[in-house]
Amino acid sequence: MREGRHSSLCPPNGSLPYEERVGWGCLVIIECLTLIESNQQNPIQKGLTKMTQLFPTEQYLRDRFKFGSRSMGFEATTREEWQFWRQALRAKIRELQGIDRLLPTSPNPKITETVQCDGYTRQRVEIDTEPGVTMPFYVLIPDNLQGTAPAVIATHGHASGGKFAVAGIRDDPQVVGTIDEHNYDYGVQAVRRGYVVFCPDARGFGERRESFSSKPEQILNSSCQQLAHMGLPLGLTVAGMWTWDLIVLLDYVQTRPEVQGQKISAIGLSGGGLQVMWLAALDERIACAVISGYFYGVADSLLHLSNNCACNYIPHMWEMADMGDVAALIAPCPLLIETARQDGLNGPRGMDNVFEQYAITEKAYKLLDVPERLAHDTFDGGHVWHGTIAFDWLEHWAR
Ligand SMILES: [Zn+2]
Repeated sequence: MREGRHSSLCPPNGSLPYEERVGWGCLVIIECLTLIESNQQNPIQKGLTKMTQLFPTEQYLRDRFKFGSRSMGFEATTREEWQFWRQALRAKIRELQGIDRLLPTSPNPKITETVQCDGYTRQRVEIDTEPGVTMPFYVLIPDNLQGTAPAVIATHGHASGGKFAVAGIRDDPQVVGTIDEHNYDYGVQAVRRGYVVFCPDARGFGERRESFSSKPEQILNSSCQQLAHMGLPLGLTVAGMWTWDLIVLLDYVQTRPEVQGQKISAIGLSGGGLQVMWLAALDERIACAVISGYFYGVADSLLHLSNNCACNYIPHMWEMADMGDVAALIAPCPLLIETARQDGLNGPRGMDNVFEQYAITEKAYKLLDVPERLAHDTFDGGHVWHGTIAFDWLEHWAR
Protein backbone atom coordinates (compact mmCIF):
# COMPACT_ATOMS: atom_id res chain seq x y z
CA MET A 1 0.00 0.00 0.00
CA ARG A 2 1.51 3.34 -1.03
CA GLU A 3 2.15 6.13 1.49
CA GLY A 4 -0.72 8.60 1.75
CA ARG A 5 -3.27 5.94 0.59
CA HIS A 6 -3.94 4.29 3.95
CA SER A 7 -7.34 2.86 4.63
CA SER A 8 -9.11 4.66 7.46
CA LEU A 9 -8.93 1.39 9.40
CA CYS A 10 -5.27 0.70 8.71
CA PRO A 11 -2.40 2.35 10.57
CA PRO A 12 0.61 3.55 8.58
CA ASN A 13 3.46 1.12 7.91
CA GLY A 14 6.34 0.75 10.35
CA SER A 15 6.51 0.44 14.09
CA LEU A 16 4.93 3.20 16.17
CA PRO A 17 5.62 4.43 19.70
CA TYR A 18 3.32 2.92 22.35
CA GLU A 19 1.20 6.09 22.75
CA GLU A 20 0.56 6.32 19.01
CA ARG A 21 -0.38 2.62 18.80
CA VAL A 22 -2.96 3.18 21.58
CA GLY A 23 -4.28 6.17 19.65
CA TRP A 24 -4.67 4.14 16.45
CA GLY A 25 -6.44 1.39 18.34
CA CYS A 26 -8.97 3.82 19.75
CA LEU A 27 -9.54 5.28 16.29
CA VAL A 28 -10.20 1.82 14.81
CA ILE A 29 -12.75 1.03 17.54
CA ILE A 30 -14.56 4.33 17.03
CA GLU A 31 -14.75 3.83 13.25
CA CYS A 32 -16.08 0.28 13.70
CA LEU A 33 -18.82 1.49 16.01
CA THR A 34 -19.71 4.25 13.54
CA LEU A 35 -19.97 1.74 10.69
CA ILE A 36 -22.19 -0.61 12.68
CA GLU A 37 -24.47 2.26 13.64
CA SER A 38 -24.70 3.56 10.07
CA ASN A 39 -25.52 0.05 8.75
CA GLN A 40 -28.33 -0.27 11.26
CA GLN A 41 -29.81 2.95 9.93
CA ASN A 42 -29.13 2.22 6.25
CA PRO A 43 -32.45 1.62 4.45
CA ILE A 44 -30.71 -0.19 1.54
CA GLN A 45 -29.12 -2.66 3.94
CA LYS A 46 -32.54 -3.25 5.54
CA GLY A 47 -34.06 -3.89 2.11
CA LEU A 48 -31.52 -6.61 1.30
CA THR A 49 -32.39 -8.57 4.42
CA LYS A 50 -36.08 -8.48 3.42
CA MET A 51 -35.46 -9.85 -0.12
CA THR A 52 -38.61 -11.63 -1.31
CA GLN A 53 -37.96 -12.19 -5.02
CA LEU A 54 -35.29 -14.20 -6.90
CA PHE A 55 -34.11 -13.61 -10.44
CA PRO A 56 -32.82 -17.04 -11.60
CA THR A 57 -31.40 -17.94 -15.03
CA GLU A 58 -32.93 -21.42 -15.24
CA GLN A 59 -35.80 -20.54 -17.62
CA TYR A 60 -33.44 -18.71 -19.93
CA LEU A 61 -31.20 -21.78 -20.17
CA ARG A 62 -34.19 -24.05 -20.84
CA ASP A 63 -35.24 -21.70 -23.63
CA ARG A 64 -31.71 -21.80 -25.02
CA PHE A 65 -32.01 -25.57 -25.15
CA LYS A 66 -35.47 -25.44 -26.72
CA PHE A 67 -34.43 -23.19 -29.55
CA GLY A 68 -30.76 -24.05 -29.92
CA SER A 69 -30.39 -27.83 -29.62
CA ARG A 70 -29.91 -30.86 -31.88
CA SER A 71 -28.31 -29.10 -34.83
CA MET A 72 -26.80 -32.51 -35.73
CA GLY A 73 -29.80 -34.63 -34.69
CA PHE A 74 -30.72 -37.76 -36.62
CA GLU A 75 -32.75 -36.72 -39.69
CA ALA A 76 -31.39 -39.04 -42.40
CA THR A 77 -33.88 -40.51 -44.86
CA THR A 78 -31.45 -42.51 -47.00
CA ARG A 79 -28.52 -44.79 -46.26
CA GLU A 80 -26.16 -42.27 -47.86
CA GLU A 81 -27.41 -39.43 -45.64
CA TRP A 82 -27.04 -41.73 -42.62
CA GLN A 83 -23.41 -42.45 -43.50
CA PHE A 84 -22.55 -38.75 -43.83
CA TRP A 85 -24.44 -37.90 -40.63
CA ARG A 86 -22.81 -40.68 -38.65
CA GLN A 87 -19.31 -39.76 -39.74
CA ALA A 88 -19.88 -36.07 -38.98
CA LEU A 89 -21.49 -36.55 -35.55
CA ARG A 90 -18.87 -39.08 -34.46
CA ALA A 91 -16.11 -36.63 -35.37
CA LYS A 92 -17.91 -33.83 -33.52
CA ILE A 93 -18.35 -35.95 -30.37
CA ARG A 94 -14.67 -36.89 -30.35
CA GLU A 95 -13.87 -33.19 -30.63
CA LEU A 96 -16.31 -32.06 -27.92
CA GLN A 97 -15.31 -34.82 -25.50
CA GLY A 98 -11.63 -34.01 -26.02
CA ILE A 99 -10.89 -37.58 -27.09
CA ASP A 100 -8.50 -36.50 -29.82
CA ARG A 101 -6.46 -34.55 -27.24
CA LEU A 102 -5.68 -37.64 -25.17
CA LEU A 103 -2.27 -39.23 -25.41
CA PRO A 104 -1.65 -42.78 -26.64
CA THR A 105 0.84 -44.90 -24.78
CA SER A 106 2.01 -48.48 -24.58
CA PRO A 107 -0.57 -50.42 -22.49
CA ASN A 108 2.12 -52.43 -20.66
CA PRO A 109 -0.38 -54.96 -19.24
CA LYS A 110 0.35 -56.61 -15.88
CA ILE A 111 -1.61 -59.44 -14.24
CA THR A 112 -1.22 -58.70 -10.53
CA GLU A 113 -3.55 -61.22 -8.87
CA THR A 114 -5.37 -64.46 -9.68
CA VAL A 115 -8.15 -65.77 -7.44
CA GLN A 116 -10.25 -68.90 -7.87
CA CYS A 117 -13.92 -68.06 -7.26
CA ASP A 118 -17.12 -70.07 -7.38
CA GLY A 119 -17.31 -71.15 -11.02
CA TYR A 120 -14.74 -68.77 -12.44
CA THR A 121 -11.24 -67.35 -12.07
CA ARG A 122 -10.80 -63.66 -11.30
CA GLN A 123 -7.65 -61.86 -12.47
CA ARG A 124 -6.71 -58.33 -11.51
CA VAL A 125 -4.96 -56.60 -14.41
CA GLU A 126 -3.46 -53.13 -14.92
CA ILE A 127 -2.96 -51.35 -18.23
CA ASP A 128 -1.74 -47.85 -18.98
CA THR A 129 -4.25 -45.82 -20.99
CA GLU A 130 -2.26 -42.57 -21.18
CA PRO A 131 1.27 -41.72 -20.04
CA GLY A 132 1.09 -41.87 -16.23
CA VAL A 133 -2.55 -43.05 -16.22
CA THR A 134 -3.21 -46.63 -15.12
CA MET A 135 -6.52 -48.48 -15.26
CA PRO A 136 -6.98 -51.53 -13.02
CA PHE A 137 -9.70 -54.01 -13.96
CA TYR A 138 -10.85 -57.53 -13.28
CA VAL A 139 -11.07 -60.29 -15.86
CA LEU A 140 -13.56 -63.02 -14.99
CA ILE A 141 -12.88 -66.29 -16.82
CA PRO A 142 -15.41 -69.15 -16.65
CA ASP A 143 -14.16 -72.48 -15.32
CA ASN A 144 -13.80 -75.26 -17.88
CA LEU A 145 -13.52 -72.78 -20.76
CA GLN A 146 -12.87 -74.73 -23.97
CA GLY A 147 -10.84 -72.55 -26.33
CA THR A 148 -12.39 -69.10 -26.59
CA ALA A 149 -15.62 -67.39 -25.57
CA PRO A 150 -17.36 -64.09 -26.37
CA ALA A 151 -16.28 -61.15 -24.21
CA VAL A 152 -18.37 -58.70 -22.23
CA ILE A 153 -17.10 -55.35 -20.98
CA ALA A 154 -19.17 -54.64 -17.86
CA THR A 155 -18.94 -51.00 -16.82
CA HIS A 156 -20.07 -49.56 -13.49
CA GLY A 157 -21.98 -46.45 -12.52
CA HIS A 158 -21.93 -44.34 -9.37
CA ALA A 159 -22.17 -45.71 -5.82
CA SER A 160 -20.47 -48.89 -6.99
CA GLY A 161 -16.97 -48.89 -5.56
CA GLY A 162 -16.03 -49.03 -9.25
CA LYS A 163 -15.36 -52.57 -10.46
CA PHE A 164 -15.93 -54.08 -7.00
CA ALA A 165 -19.73 -54.14 -7.26
CA VAL A 166 -19.82 -55.35 -10.87
CA ALA A 167 -17.29 -58.11 -10.12
CA GLY A 168 -19.32 -59.11 -7.05
CA ILE A 169 -16.58 -58.59 -4.47
CA ARG A 170 -18.34 -58.60 -1.12
CA ASP A 171 -15.48 -57.66 1.21
CA ASP A 172 -16.86 -54.22 2.13
CA PRO A 173 -20.34 -53.88 3.69
CA GLN A 174 -21.04 -50.72 1.67
CA VAL A 175 -20.29 -52.57 -1.56
CA VAL A 176 -22.45 -55.49 -0.42
CA GLY A 177 -25.29 -53.02 0.21
CA THR A 178 -25.07 -51.45 -3.23
CA ILE A 179 -24.81 -54.85 -4.97
CA ASP A 180 -28.01 -55.98 -3.28
CA GLU A 181 -29.81 -52.67 -3.84
CA HIS A 182 -28.98 -52.29 -7.55
CA ASN A 183 -28.46 -55.94 -8.62
CA TYR A 184 -25.00 -54.57 -9.39
CA ASP A 185 -22.95 -57.77 -9.85
CA TYR A 186 -23.88 -58.25 -13.51
CA GLY A 187 -20.22 -59.06 -14.29
CA VAL A 188 -20.54 -62.23 -12.21
CA GLN A 189 -23.97 -62.93 -13.72
CA ALA A 190 -22.32 -62.77 -17.17
CA VAL A 191 -19.31 -65.00 -16.38
CA ARG A 192 -21.66 -67.64 -14.97
CA ARG A 193 -23.32 -67.66 -18.41
CA GLY A 194 -19.99 -68.47 -20.06
CA TYR A 195 -18.67 -65.04 -21.12
CA VAL A 196 -15.17 -63.73 -20.46
CA VAL A 197 -15.95 -60.54 -18.56
CA PHE A 198 -13.88 -57.38 -18.15
CA CYS A 199 -14.82 -55.09 -15.24
CA PRO A 200 -12.83 -51.84 -15.35
CA ASP A 201 -12.54 -48.97 -12.88
CA ALA A 202 -13.50 -45.70 -14.58
CA ARG A 203 -11.33 -42.71 -13.70
CA GLY A 204 -12.43 -41.34 -10.34
CA PHE A 205 -13.90 -44.64 -9.03
CA GLY A 206 -12.75 -47.62 -7.00
CA GLU A 207 -8.98 -47.84 -7.08
CA ARG A 208 -8.91 -44.76 -9.31
CA ARG A 209 -10.46 -42.31 -6.85
CA GLU A 210 -8.62 -39.00 -6.57
CA SER A 211 -7.14 -37.74 -3.30
CA PHE A 212 -10.38 -35.93 -2.41
CA SER A 213 -12.28 -39.16 -1.80
CA SER A 214 -9.59 -41.73 -1.16
CA LYS A 215 -10.42 -42.86 2.38
CA PRO A 216 -11.53 -46.49 2.80
CA GLU A 217 -14.93 -45.40 4.13
CA GLN A 218 -15.42 -43.38 0.90
CA ILE A 219 -15.34 -46.51 -1.25
CA LEU A 220 -18.69 -45.69 -2.89
CA ASN A 221 -17.69 -42.08 -3.63
CA SER A 222 -16.43 -40.85 -6.96
CA SER A 223 -14.18 -37.99 -8.05
CA CYS A 224 -16.16 -36.95 -11.14
CA GLN A 225 -16.55 -33.34 -10.03
CA GLN A 226 -12.84 -32.87 -9.35
CA LEU A 227 -11.89 -34.53 -12.64
CA ALA A 228 -14.38 -32.37 -14.51
CA HIS A 229 -13.13 -29.16 -12.90
CA MET A 230 -9.51 -30.03 -13.67
CA GLY A 231 -10.17 -31.38 -17.16
CA LEU A 232 -12.63 -28.89 -18.67
CA PRO A 233 -10.24 -25.91 -18.76
CA LEU A 234 -7.76 -28.21 -20.51
CA GLY A 235 -10.33 -29.15 -23.16
CA LEU A 236 -10.91 -32.58 -21.60
CA THR A 237 -14.11 -34.16 -20.30
CA VAL A 238 -14.79 -37.00 -17.91
CA ALA A 239 -16.91 -38.78 -20.53
CA GLY A 240 -14.12 -38.44 -23.08
CA MET A 241 -11.50 -39.83 -20.71
CA TRP A 242 -13.76 -42.77 -19.85
CA THR A 243 -14.48 -43.51 -23.52
CA TRP A 244 -10.78 -43.35 -24.36
CA ASP A 245 -9.93 -45.79 -21.58
CA LEU A 246 -12.57 -48.23 -22.83
CA ILE A 247 -11.22 -47.99 -26.39
CA VAL A 248 -7.77 -48.89 -25.03
CA LEU A 249 -9.36 -51.72 -23.04
CA LEU A 250 -10.97 -53.00 -26.25
CA ASP A 251 -7.50 -53.17 -27.81
CA TYR A 252 -6.36 -55.27 -24.85
CA VAL A 253 -9.45 -57.52 -24.88
CA GLN A 254 -8.68 -58.44 -28.49
CA THR A 255 -5.23 -59.70 -27.42
CA ARG A 256 -6.55 -62.10 -24.78
CA PRO A 257 -6.24 -65.75 -25.84
CA GLU A 258 -9.63 -66.56 -24.24
CA VAL A 259 -11.36 -64.04 -26.55
CA GLN A 260 -9.46 -63.84 -29.84
CA GLY A 261 -11.79 -63.82 -32.84
CA GLN A 262 -14.90 -63.66 -30.69
CA LYS A 263 -17.52 -60.93 -30.40
CA ILE A 264 -17.20 -58.23 -27.74
CA SER A 265 -20.26 -56.77 -26.02
CA ALA A 266 -20.69 -53.94 -23.52
CA ILE A 267 -23.21 -53.73 -20.69
CA GLY A 268 -23.67 -51.22 -17.87
CA LEU A 269 -26.06 -49.62 -15.40
CA SER A 270 -26.46 -45.86 -14.89
CA GLY A 271 -23.03 -44.24 -15.31
CA GLY A 272 -22.08 -47.64 -16.71
CA GLY A 273 -24.85 -47.16 -19.28
CA LEU A 274 -23.38 -43.75 -20.05
CA GLN A 275 -20.03 -45.41 -20.74
CA VAL A 276 -21.59 -48.11 -22.92
CA MET A 277 -23.52 -45.49 -24.89
CA TRP A 278 -20.47 -43.40 -25.77
CA LEU A 279 -18.28 -46.43 -26.46
CA ALA A 280 -20.79 -48.19 -28.72
CA ALA A 281 -21.58 -44.91 -30.50
CA LEU A 282 -17.92 -44.34 -31.38
CA ASP A 283 -16.30 -47.79 -31.68
CA GLU A 284 -17.71 -50.33 -34.13
CA ARG A 285 -15.87 -53.22 -32.47
CA ILE A 286 -18.76 -53.46 -30.00
CA ALA A 287 -20.97 -56.27 -31.32
CA CYS A 288 -23.86 -55.90 -28.89
CA ALA A 289 -24.76 -53.29 -26.27
CA VAL A 290 -27.02 -53.07 -23.22
CA ILE A 291 -27.62 -49.60 -21.78
CA SER A 292 -29.45 -49.78 -18.44
CA GLY A 293 -30.88 -46.79 -16.55
CA TYR A 294 -29.28 -44.19 -18.78
CA PHE A 295 -31.54 -43.25 -21.66
CA TYR A 296 -33.76 -40.15 -21.66
CA GLY A 297 -34.10 -36.66 -23.06
CA VAL A 298 -31.42 -34.41 -21.65
CA ALA A 299 -33.69 -31.35 -21.21
CA ASP A 300 -35.79 -33.14 -18.59
CA SER A 301 -33.14 -35.36 -17.07
CA LEU A 302 -29.94 -33.32 -17.10
CA LEU A 303 -31.00 -29.70 -17.63
CA HIS A 304 -34.02 -29.77 -15.32
CA LEU A 305 -32.30 -32.22 -12.92
CA SER A 306 -29.23 -30.03 -12.98
CA ASN A 307 -27.79 -31.48 -9.77
CA ASN A 308 -26.75 -34.57 -11.71
CA CYS A 309 -23.10 -35.58 -11.63
CA ALA A 310 -20.53 -33.53 -13.54
CA CYS A 311 -19.61 -36.53 -15.73
CA ASN A 312 -22.87 -36.03 -17.65
CA TYR A 313 -22.05 -32.54 -18.89
CA ILE A 314 -20.06 -31.96 -22.09
CA PRO A 315 -19.64 -28.39 -23.42
CA HIS A 316 -21.70 -27.79 -26.61
CA MET A 317 -22.98 -31.38 -26.69
CA TRP A 318 -26.68 -30.52 -26.44
CA GLU A 319 -26.37 -28.00 -29.23
CA MET A 320 -25.52 -30.98 -31.43
CA ALA A 321 -27.46 -34.02 -30.25
CA ASP A 322 -29.83 -35.48 -27.68
CA MET A 323 -29.50 -38.96 -26.25
CA GLY A 324 -31.71 -40.59 -28.89
CA ASP A 325 -29.39 -39.20 -31.58
CA VAL A 326 -26.29 -40.55 -29.84
CA ALA A 327 -27.90 -43.99 -29.50
CA ALA A 328 -28.83 -43.80 -33.22
CA LEU A 329 -25.07 -43.77 -33.89
CA ILE A 330 -24.95 -47.30 -32.47
CA ALA A 331 -27.12 -48.69 -35.32
CA PRO A 332 -26.89 -51.29 -36.83
CA CYS A 333 -25.21 -52.82 -33.75
CA PRO A 334 -27.79 -54.73 -31.62
CA LEU A 335 -28.85 -52.46 -28.75
CA LEU A 336 -31.07 -53.21 -25.76
CA ILE A 337 -32.18 -50.36 -23.52
CA GLU A 338 -33.39 -51.09 -19.99
CA THR A 339 -35.69 -48.53 -18.36
CA ALA A 340 -37.30 -48.75 -14.94
CA ARG A 341 -40.66 -47.00 -15.05
CA GLN A 342 -40.18 -45.51 -11.57
CA ASP A 343 -36.59 -44.35 -12.15
CA GLY A 344 -36.46 -40.71 -10.99
CA LEU A 345 -33.68 -39.99 -13.48
CA ASN A 346 -36.25 -40.24 -16.28
CA GLY A 347 -37.28 -36.73 -15.24
CA PRO A 348 -40.60 -35.14 -14.25
CA ARG A 349 -42.45 -36.49 -17.34
CA GLY A 350 -41.28 -40.03 -16.64
CA MET A 351 -41.54 -42.53 -19.50
CA ASP A 352 -42.68 -39.90 -22.03
CA ASN A 353 -39.17 -38.46 -21.79
CA VAL A 354 -37.75 -41.91 -22.53
CA PHE A 355 -40.10 -42.93 -25.36
CA GLU A 356 -39.45 -39.67 -27.24
CA GLN A 357 -35.74 -40.50 -27.40
CA TYR A 358 -36.38 -44.14 -28.22
CA ALA A 359 -38.44 -43.02 -31.21
CA ILE A 360 -35.43 -41.08 -32.54
CA THR A 361 -33.13 -44.08 -32.19
CA GLU A 362 -35.73 -46.41 -33.68
CA LYS A 363 -35.77 -44.36 -36.91
CA ALA A 364 -32.11 -45.22 -37.51
CA TYR A 365 -32.67 -48.97 -37.05
CA LYS A 366 -35.69 -48.86 -39.34
CA LEU A 367 -33.82 -46.90 -41.99
CA LEU A 368 -31.12 -49.58 -41.99
CA ASP A 369 -33.75 -52.35 -42.19
CA VAL A 370 -32.69 -53.87 -38.86
CA PRO A 371 -35.55 -52.95 -36.47
CA GLU A 372 -35.11 -56.30 -34.72
CA ARG A 373 -31.69 -55.15 -33.46
CA LEU A 374 -33.21 -52.55 -31.16
CA ALA A 375 -35.27 -53.49 -28.10
CA HIS A 376 -36.61 -51.79 -24.99
CA ASP A 377 -37.00 -53.59 -21.68
CA THR A 378 -39.32 -51.46 -19.56
CA PHE A 379 -40.15 -52.72 -16.10
CA ASP A 380 -41.68 -51.63 -12.80
CA GLY A 381 -38.99 -50.69 -10.34
CA GLY A 382 -36.27 -48.20 -9.55
CA HIS A 383 -32.74 -47.51 -10.70
CA VAL A 384 -31.42 -51.08 -10.97
CA TRP A 385 -29.86 -53.54 -13.41
CA HIS A 386 -32.83 -55.63 -14.60
CA GLY A 387 -31.08 -58.34 -16.63
CA THR A 388 -34.28 -60.23 -17.46
CA ILE A 389 -34.08 -59.74 -21.22
CA ALA A 390 -30.44 -58.60 -21.28
CA PHE A 391 -28.79 -62.01 -21.08
CA ASP A 392 -31.15 -63.50 -23.68
CA TRP A 393 -30.24 -60.50 -25.83
CA LEU A 394 -26.51 -61.22 -25.42
CA GLU A 395 -27.07 -64.91 -26.09
CA HIS A 396 -28.87 -64.10 -29.32
CA TRP A 397 -26.57 -61.38 -30.69
CA ALA A 398 -23.19 -61.88 -29.04
CA ARG A 399 -22.55 -65.63 -29.42
ZN1 LIG B 1 -20.09 -38.91 -12.19
